Amino acid sequence: MAYQSINPATGKQTESFKELTAAELESKLAKAEACYKTWKRTSYAERAVIIAKAAKLLREQADTFATTMTKEMGKRISEARGEVLFSADILDYYAEKAEGFLAPDTLDPKMGEAHMESSPIGVVFCVEPWNFPYYQLARVAGPHLMAGNTLVIKHAGCVPQCAIAFEKLLLDAGAPEGLYTNLVISHDQSNAVVDDVRIKGVALTGSVAAGRSIASRAGQALKPSSMELGGSDAFIVLEDADMDHAVKWAVWGRMYNCGQTCCAAKRFIIVDSVADEFLEKFTAALSALEAGDPIDEKTTLGPLSTEGALVQLLAQVNAAVKGGAKVVLGGKRIERAGSYMEPTILTDVKPGNPAFRDEFFGPVAMFFRVKDEAAAIALANDSDFGLGGSVFTKDVERGKRVASQIETGMMFINNISWSDAELPFGGIKDSGYGRELGDMGIQAFVNKKLVRYVKADAPL
Ligand code: NAP
Repeated sequence: MAYQSINPATGKQTESFKELTAAELESKLAKAEACYKTWKRTSYAERAVIIAKAAKLLREQADTFATTMTKEMGKRISEARGEVLFSADILDYYAEKAEGFLAPDTLDPKMGEAHMESSPIGVVFCVEPWNFPYYQLARVAGPHLMAGNTLVIKHAGCVPQCAIAFEKLLLDAGAPEGLYTNLVISHDQSNAVVDDVRIKGVALTGSVAAGRSIASRAGQALKPSSMELGGSDAFIVLEDADMDHAVKWAVWGRMYNCGQTCCAAKRFIIVDSVADEFLEKFTAALSALEAGDPIDEKTTLGPLSTEGALVQLLAQVNAAVKGGAKVVLGGKRIERAGSYMEPTILTDVKPGNPAFRDEFFGPVAMFFRVKDEAAAIALANDSDFGLGGSVFTKDVERGKRVASQIETGMMFINNISWSDAELPFGGIKDSGYGRELGDMGIQAFVNKKLVRYVKADAPL
């Protein structure tokens, strides 16, 4: 099956790319391995020249990169531009900080002296999703290339032009051949890459099903892996929240990237005394969004990434309704060219309804009314996922106490500004394991080596 570039705002295919032959794949892996042998010996300063240059080029060509993304997966142009600039920030962050993050740590043993040092491990294989076509790549390229590894990347089948653009970016920035390699490959070929002896680590961001498949394969081969998977984050509004502030974040948290974000607000858990007010304001705000071409700066509602994503989401909504949920807003496809879905709010989603444990990867919000803070925490934790979550309250100390009781990898109080280069990103439970970004993000694929030393004539 070829990789296809289809504009989801029109349904028209613009490009198609054939998967690599076995010989082409072998050649690319060999080049990545050969490059590693020299790249691992380069200094941090030498690596930083290339990574910082890539950041500079991204900024200079932000509009071109953003337009490719918008036309390939439908992200609204202002969001696409923001993602490009943020990707540049991530590259710069690691260009500047990698050496400090990986500096030797002095230990204090009973005998002699010791330190931990960090060294690269080799070629790392990354499988990435379409929803943040450049940010996801920057999140692995910044840390792992600065650490001295080389990368081979399988990007999602629906964003081949973004994948090619990012590979070209690194080449334009001066990357040697084999440093960063885009692979247009099938799932079977991905399995073979995981098994390949030259691959020393595996990172995947994507669905739970993909995570299970690739993580088990990596486990079988005893290779380190990190898994950034799905989420169904709770958005808790307590009775003392600033309601207008909470509703603004609710709209952004559910609708940013047309709802196709792993750590988007997906389950709105509202304390009873303010639930009616929240639902009324949230419904009004979502109703005001208007579908349009995502390339138009004025558009407030873009399409989903693909027709397949829309069909799946509609099927999930139908199953939820069959299971007893009520649709208080939307629920249907928008009748126009392209793959557009009405902003949707579901209520009365009870345990036993498939929706209760599902991830809705699009503009569908589930609304839950709870008695009090304790009930909100219990419901938030009644999930197979554990990626992020948020709590809204005027009392930040109370927010921190609630956040501490939620079983996720990330919590946000009075905001859901999920990602910063400095902040480790990731989850627990079915949301995966490992962290990307921040100091932790660069430690995933390095050898932490202990070295202990005593004087040559020290007694035994
Ligand atoms: P997906 O189907 O799992 O695709 C993600 C990537 O995995 C794509 O490159 C895909 O390739 C590949 N893939 C899927 N199954 C595979 C298999 N069996 N073997 C090898 N590769 C495989 O995910 P999606 O539904 O498109 O993306 C959205 C999911 O990603 C959501 O669940 C979302 O929450 C999650 N996500 C998580 C994070 C995070 O940081 N935690 C960030 C973004 C997204 P093909 O396209 O060729 O199938």
